[in-house]
Amino acid sequence: MLNECGVLVFAEQENGRIHGVVYELLGKGRELADRLKKSLCAILLGYNLWDEAKELIYYGADKVYLIDHPSLKDFDIVRYKHNIVKIVDEVKPDIFLIGATRIGRSLAPRVAAALKTGLTADCVDLDLDEEGNLIQIRPAFSGNIMAQIKTRTKPQMATVRYRIMKPLNRDPSRRGEIVVREPILLEKTGIEILDKIEIGGVNISEADVIVAAGRGLKSPEDFKILEELATLLGGVLGSSRPLVDAGWIGREHQVGFSGNVVKPKVYMAFGISGAPQHLFGMRDSDIIIAINKDPSAPIISVSDYYVIGDLYEIIHPLINEIKKVKGLVK
Ligand SMILES: Cc1cc2nc3c(=O)[nH]c(=O)nc-3n(C[C@H](O)[C@H](O)[C@H](O)COP(=O)(O)OP(=O)(O)OC[C@H]3O[C@@H](n4cnc5c(N)ncnc54)[C@H](O)[C@@H]3O)c2cc1C
Repeated sequence: MLNECGVLVFAEQENGRIHGVVYELLGKGRELADRLKKSLCAILLGYNLWDEAKELIYYGADKVYLIDHPSLKDFDIVRYKHNIVKIVDEVKPDIFLIGATRIGRSLAPRVAAALKTGLTADCVDLDLDEEGNLIQIRPAFSGNIMAQIKTRTKPQMATVRYRIMKPLNRDPSRRGEIVVREPILLEKTGIEILDKIEIGGVNISEADVIVAAGRGLKSPEDFKILEELATLLGGVLGSSRPLVDAGWIGREHQVGFSGNVVKPKVYMAFGISGAPQHLFGMRDSDIIIAINKDPSAPIISVSDYYVIGDLYEIIHPLINEIKKVKGLVK
């Protein structure tokens, strides 16, 4: 029954821009829906989003449920919840996937509670058992085991971490259906947007270049040298967990299992040993460059390029060379 919606993906958008996790969920959702021999659907809420709805089809959706209305332009958790629940009640998917983003993490539990179904948060993998039930895989007990969780109730709901799943290639020749639905209009939800302010800080998951440091760093002040390098390369700072735990740098910079998963074009690891929990967060980077004084450090074996030596002896000449190439010094 290809018409039945096997997998539904919440297409999170902000200011009309679809979040990258949505394309990843469509990639995984496509695989699951094909195995279930059912269709892959998406739900998109917002205003003036016809082109974005088409994009969801190009990335794998068979059907997009679109509620396009000025009242949904900005994220309002109450309005969004009511409208999503209405669509889920209509399409009755087996599986409902939401990105484990700031918005997704706040929305998913409310939707699950309204649907009286279970929710597994922060999944890092998804699979199906022989009966077609969703196996939701996520770290448990502080990451010491990978729990495989099944939900008895339907839809089987999961939030999934960003930068874990692979999106499909965009295919503008793909055909699908955009189903327009009327919104549930709520007069007052108790939430009023007074003003919008930019969130400061780094978004390490989106960075193309990451210059990361580990316990090879001798003091928190030394992050300044790495920051100079990161700025020269148009990148951001990353860190292994011990430096974050020691308060040397903010948690938003942490790469790894209990931090952020990143996939930059270039990942430079200064004085990071490459523990499995760290590798989990960066091993899919396009190019990994390790700087370590220990040739047997595990990070060396996953790196594309490495320099064996003291990071303090390497970083200054490296910064100077880059400045020369950029014409900043002679
Ligand atoms: C449940 C759980 C979750 C975890 N989550 C994370 C996570 O999200 N991210 C994470 O990073 N870790 C995480 N960890 C911790 C992880 O196991 C490691 O302890 C940690 O990654 C080690 O950090 P490091 O590589 O900076 O330090 P170390 O392992 O101490 O390595 C330091 C490296 O620096 C090199 N070095 C020292 N001095 C110099 C120098 N002057 N020049 C060049 N190289 C030098 C050394 O040779 C060594 O290889 C987690 C652990 C657990 C149990």
